[in-house]
Amino acid sequence: MNFADYTTLGLGGPARRFVRAATEDDLIEAVGKADADGEPLLVLGGGSNLVVSDDGFDGTVVQVATTGVRRGPGPGLVTVAAGEDWDAVVAGTVAAGLAGLECLSGIPGRAGATPIQNVGAYGQEVADTITAVRTYDRVTKEIDIFPNDRCEFGYRTSVFKRDGARRHIVLSVTFQLAEQSAGLPVRYAELASALGVSPGDQVASTQVRSAVIDLRRRKGMVIDSADPDTRSAGSFFVNPVLDGAALAAVQAAAGTPVPHFDAGDGLVKVPAAWLIERAGFAKGYSLGDGARISAKHTLALVNSGSATTEGLLALARQIRDGVRDVFGVSLTPEPVLIGVAL
Ligand SMILES: Cc1cc2nc3c(=O)[nH]c(=O)nc-3n(C[C@H](O)[C@H](O)[C@H](O)COP(=O)(O)OP(=O)(O)OC[C@H]3O[C@@H](n4cnc5c(N)ncnc54)[C@H](O)[C@@H]3O)c2cc1C
Repeated sequence: MNFADYTTLGLGGPARRFVRAATEDDLIEAVGKADADGEPLLVLGGGSNLVVSDDGFDGTVVQVATTGVRRGPGPGLVTVAAGEDWDAVVAGTVAAGLAGLECLSGIPGRAGATPIQNVGAYGQEVADTITAVRTYDRVTKEIDIFPNDRCEFGYRTSVFKRDGARRHIVLSVTFQLAEQSAGLPVRYAELASALGVSPGDQVASTQVRSAVIDLRRRKGMVIDSADPDTRSAGSFFVNPVLDGAALAAVQAAAGTPVPHFDAGDGLVKVPAAWLIERAGFAKGYSLGDGARISAKHTLALVNSGSATTEGLLALARQIRDGVRDVFGVSLTPEPVLIGVAL
């Protein structure tokens, strides 16, 4: 197994051992065996949020390929096996007249990874609708169910992501959706404008889903083998969250008003893409070795075919350092880095 064939970036070297787990029992057994053997373990979903070393991974990779989507017991409850393709899950809920996931259309990967970084887009995040995350605890070797408030969801993070030891393997995720054909009120201005409505208005979920996919395609954010700009891990950096003093410093360095959004607790979120562009890195920018900034979206770093993980990281470091030099803001990577560091 080569990670280049299992990641959306198409990068990364070999793994020592690879197991595909199609049932929950197989998954628990494969994880338990790796742990009993003292093997390093990597649980793999769709590989859409992973940057893996060119040297690969010296341990066992367990690919989560479990399936199953169950309605009930209550109205609007849906439980999804970790290995289900995420966009197929969203499409299924929209088609079934359930609202709450429609803005998360077109995001690659598997359902089990969505709570890890609290997947979000266009004004929705899974933290809004998850009621429970059923996990296998590698320490107690028991099933452990996390209700929403134990998941410690934050912006692109959760208790699962913060736990570097990856103690919990997600087996299934339960969502509380609304039984209605109208989507939830549209919160994101760009989406509202694409739909021709005002923020707060409600539109059929089916319409929201197609508008989101349209917007994402234009940014190279829907995986498409015909579009080289989609060979990425999505956004490479998270939008920095700043306090008032840091925002004022950025404003002073920029010499112009800086776009920002309320992030609660007196903090604001500043678009990383804006900082990167203003620091002198344009769409398409490259160090000339096959890694480049997407031609459609400043936040996505792309393997144009001949890149290596090291080359991609060299580009990421240059961008991070450039933004820090100009604005004093440290960008942090969004994907999970395996065997490498920024
Ligand atoms: C083109 C593109 C667009 C994207 N757009 C968005 C977006 O709009 N919003 C957003 O939030 N993200 C986005 N992403 C990032 C990514 O799609 C999500 O983070 C997704 O949830 C990752 O799922 P995956 O199955 O591919 O996980 P992987 O990349 O396989 O794994 C990611 C991490 O989760 C862990 N993991 C995976 N499955 C499990 C499990 N069952 N139990 C425990 N740990 C597990 C892995 O070990 C790893 O640490 C985008 C990525 C791409 C390539």
